[in-house]
Amino acid sequence: MTKSKLLSLVALAGALSAFSTFGSAKTCSVEISGNDQMQFDKKEIAIAADCTEVELTLKHTGKLPVTAMGHNWVLTTTADFQPVATAGASAGAGNQYVPKDDARVIAFTKLVGGGESTSIKFPTSKLKAGGDYTFFCSFPGHWSLMKGKLTFG
Ligand code: ZN
Repeated sequence: MTKSKLLSLVALAGALSAFSTFGSAKTCSVEISGNDQMQFDKKEIAIAADCTEVELTLKHTGKLPVTAMGHNWVLTTTADFQPVATAGASAGAGNQYVPKDDARVIAFTKLVGGGESTSIKFPTSKLKAGGDYTFFCSFPGHWSLMKGKLTFG
């Protein structure tokens, strides 16, 4: 290998590592499940600072139908969580128990029933590092048990 070729390889490697640190998109996958006992399997979700996008998968590991034991995953700031959960109950099943076009809702999945799963992607540009976020299921009556903390950064 010639010296100039070696140097250009070193430069390329340097450029690539800089790119992956500062410039590239990084999708971070998160999986959470809900069951027939009205419980999520996680109380906390930590999103690393270098994630530019989150791919969240919600699995319903139970057997009950969506009308009886539906679960979704809704993300708001902790301050907005209870008002949005209340507004979601009024919005009804047709709106996934999520208030429509509500800026307080950072991300949400549709409702799933036993044996089903669903996935969403959302950009972390909607999150502030060190912010205080709560995720919950907005199916009526579920959010007092089915909730947890999400951190970013
Ligand atoms: Zn639920």
